[in-house]
Amino acid sequence: MQQTQTNLEQQWEVVCNKIRENSKDTILNRWLEQMSPESIDNGLLQLSVPTRFMQEWMKEKEYDSLISSIWTSENPAIQDICLKIQSHKAPVLDKEEEAPLTMSESPAAQPSSEDLFANVYLDPHFTFENFVVGKPNEFAYAAAKRVAESEDVAFNPLYLHSSVGLGKTHLMHSIAWHIQKTNPNRKVLYLSAEKFMYQFVKALRFDDTVAFRDMFRSVDVLMIDDVQFICGKKATQEEFFHTFNALVDQGKQIILCSDSSPLELKGIEDRLKTRMAQGLVVDIFPTTYEMRIGILESKAALLNAPVPADVIAFLAERITSNVRELEGALKRVIANAQLLGTEITLDSTRQILRDILNVYEKEITVEDIQKAVADHFTLKMSDLKSTRRDRKIARPRQMAMYLAKILTTKSLPDIGSAFDRDHTTIIHAVRTIEELIKTDKNVAEDVCLLEKMLKGA
Ligand code: ADP
Ligand code: MG
Repeated sequence: MQQTQTNLEQQWEVVCNKIRENSKDTILNRWLEQMSPESIDNGLLQLSVPTRFMQEWMKEKEYDSLISSIWTSENPAIQDICLKIQSHKAPVLDKEEEAPLTMSESPAAQPSSEDLFANVYLDPHFTFENFVVGKPNEFAYAAAKRVAESEDVAFNPLYLHSSVGLGKTHLMHSIAWHIQKTNPNRKVLYLSAEKFMYQFVKALRFDDTVAFRDMFRSVDVLMIDDVQFICGKKATQEEFFHTFNALVDQGKQIILCSDSSPLELKGIEDRLKTRMAQGLVVDIFPTTYEMRIGILESKAALLNAPVPADVIAFLAERITSNVRELEGALKRVIANAQLLGTEITLDSTRQILRDILNVYEKEITVEDIQKAVADHFTLKMSDLKSTRRDRKIARPRQMAMYLAKILTTKSLPDIGSAFDRDHTTIIHAVRTIEELIKTDKNVAEDVCLLEKMLKGA
């Protein structure tokens, strides 16, 4: 039977109605309108779909088989269908509906590009007001404020980098909050590099980088966090490079954060690295003791918890790695006190944080001690293990044994064997030095100095 185009269209109409009756999938139902029968050849019906994404999705959900079987029951001459991508883009296609700008693999759950904005989570505590400024971060703070407060693009991109937990995300959110409060018309988009890349790779896959660029065109300030996670094939980076330039050309402020400087980024093409470094690159350095005190006080106030000064000082002194850890420790101490209904004390703090404090405690080995003592007294390491008894050597050797006892967790026999002695010699040395510390100023000073040095203070 000759199938005219009109015939096919009428049949398609009937098939669509049947599908609508049977399927609650609203995505499918809407997409049916964008599909149309093209031709039939040897029982194989060509059905056109506007995008490759739609084609893949239909196949994945086996909607092609569904259509095929319904159609066959309507018209036995149709044995199978084949989904074909329309050679031209359907003008009716709603951009929002297209795959490239969305996050989820399943179109049924796909948020539109609008959702990309809606889904952004900004931590309400990450504001400029809550950011403690000190020498190590004052430049980053000033640059972030500058971007937040003025509309002209002075440097592009602003690139903040530091090791983990030093406030990069906090500053980015602060910029977003500030703009939202003072200039709500300015559109800010904050997203992680992973999310950004995901969108981007999808756009590439569905050949829709134009839509991708369009989406970002509506943004005034684009922030991409943890840029070190940008990775991918050469072609991807190539396109990213162009998108990046296009945005800069359009006067969009771009802010990037990363764990390393642009030029140190791994797996990223040189050209892109250079581009990223062309704006203002600012690093945030580790906190100082004073800043840590300030941060702890500020966080304790935010948590509405009375934390004694000695506990604050103790935490600031002991947890120096980064602010996230510091904050985590403070929260644990506060939570514990609140749970048990007890006061926060130095003792309870030590107890609660035992596990992490041990990590921060620099592990000192007997060998470290021997080396430090030998250096201090300009001796050889072998002298400390020798049997020579002259005071010049014997005294430092005893100090080393004493320090090994108080600074390591090694047992007396272990320490003994490190000095080729037995444990009684160690006991004797420890007693001798303990006595001398009380009576001999020089010994006390030497021991104190060595101890400080070994603890890295
Ligand atoms: P990064 O993004 O650099 O890894 P974050 O911005 O997530 O670090 O910071 C980790 C935690 O430390 C956050 O809770 C943040 O509020 C806090 N923080 C870091 N620096 C400061 C600071 N200068 N003042 C107050 N809080 C800070
Ligand atoms: Mg971060």
